[in-house]
Amino acid sequence: MRLLVVEDETRIVEVLRVALGRAGFVVDAVATVADARAAAPLVAYDVIILDLGLPDGDGMELLAELRQAGNRVPVLVLTARDAVEARVTGLDAGADDYLVKPFAVAELIARTKALLRRPGQALGTVLEAGNIVFDTIGRDVRVGSAVLPLARQELAILEHLMRRLGRVVPKAVLEEKLYGMDEELGSNAIPVHVHHLRRKLAEAGAGAEVHTVRGIGYLLTEPPA
Ligand code: CA
Repeated sequence: MRLLVVEDETRIVEVLRVALGRAGFVVDAVATVADARAAAPLVAYDVIILDLGLPDGDGMELLAELRQAGNRVPVLVLTARDAVEARVTGLDAGADDYLVKPFAVAELIARTKALLRRPGQALGTVLEAGNIVFDTIGRDVRVGSAVLPLARQELAILEHLMRRLGRVVPKAVLEEKLYGMDEELGSNAIPVHVHHLRRKLAEAGAGAEVHTVRGIGYLLTEPPA
C-alpha cells in the first residue's frame, strides 16, 4: 500500500514516515500544494493524508481539484482547525475522514486502515490463493496454518500478485509499488525479491506458484484443484 502524505511540518512527516512504514505502508511525502498536485496523478496512491494549512495554499483546494478530476483516492484530512464548520467543509469537499491536530499516531494508522477497508474500494482485505492467505491489514501471510515470515518487499510483491491472481503483473508496476522501500532499486531488485519469495513459498508448501513472464513481469497461479 502506498500513501501520499501532504504536510509541511517536518517533525510530523518524520513521525508518520516511521510509524506508517512500520505498519507496512510505503510513504511518499510532499510539503506543498504544488508538489502534491504534481505527485497525485503520477501514482495510484491507496490513501492521501492531507494537511490543510500548507505554505502555498489550502489543502482543501487540492482535494476539490482531485475530486473534480474524478480521482476517488481515499483522503484523510489533517488540520489544526478544530471548528465543526471546518470539518463539515472538509467532508463536503470530498474528504473521507478527518483528524484534528494534535492527534495520536496510532489513531491515524487506525483511520488509514479503516479507509482501506471501506466497501466500495476495490481492496480486499484478505486475499487467498490456494493455501496462501494474506491479511493485508495485519500484514500477515499464512501458508496453511503456519505464518510465513516475509521481508517488506516480498510482502508488497506477493500482495500485488495475489490481487491480480492469474494475471501478469508488469515488472514496472512492482517497481513503482516498491519505490521507496529499497534504498536504491536497481534493475535486479525485483527479480531478487521474487526469487526469495518463490523459495520461501515453496519451502512453506504453498501450492500457488510465481511464474516469470520473460520481458514482461510475473504472475501467480493457483494449483489445479
Ligand atoms: Ca501545516
